[in-house]
Amino acid sequence: MDILDSMVGLFAPHHCLGCGVIGGLICGVCMDQEIAVRHSACYRCNKLTKDYKTCVGCKKSNSLSRVYAFADLGGLVESLVYATKFDSKRSGSGVMANMLYPLLLDLNAEFLVVPVPTAKVRVRQRGFDHSVLLARHVSRKSGLENAHVLSRSGKTRQVGSTANQRRSQLKDAFSCRADVAGRDIVLVDDVVSTGATLEAAAGALRSAGARRIFAAVLARA
Ligand SMILES: [Zn+2]
Ligand SMILES: [Zn+2]
Repeated sequence: MDILDSMVGLFAPHHCLGCGVIGGLICGVCMDQEIAVRHSACYRCNKLTKDYKTCVGCKKSNSLSRVYAFADLGGLVESLVYATKFDSKRSGSGVMANMLYPLLLDLNAEFLVVPVPTAKVRVRQRGFDHSVLLARHVSRKSGLENAHVLSRSGKTRQVGSTANQRRSQLKDAFSCRADVAGRDIVLVDDVVSTGATLEAAAGALRSAGARRIFAAVLARA
């Protein structure tokens, strides 16, 4: 749990987002009964694949070869994402990481955990970058090295537009500021919807010479 949040939690403990019981953000009972782990599928078209691989058709146009997605966005998972992002529940990142990291236990130690940085305007509003926190927790629990190597330009904002518009808006949003040539990467974020953000981040890593590029998200919208 994030130190600041656990200190705040001493004075104002969380209520479970599902049933309201005092303790963590999601209690053990709700975790077992209300959250269904998602099947392994292509993140874009939802076709069933092995090990969360991107299907052959969707792979043609992008650099992401796997996207691990723990659950579908909805119910308690959506409440957790919302609470973390918009209600500034920092400990939400730790709860998400607890769900996410078991999917990554087969990855070898060569993989770097890289957060998909949030737009700066959002980080200013919230006071923290939930994606950076999530990556830090995932790294700690999985034992994979955390590498905050992507920068995000301030101009790009996602508005209610089509997947193709989002892709062109985000085309140059990310740049890689470290040497990742030949490295294997697992990008970390909370939600994948059109995939445009993850693909733009993966594109920047590919341009910087990264080898295999996977992603891990809590939920698929
Ligand atoms: Zn509960
Ligand atoms: Zn596909």
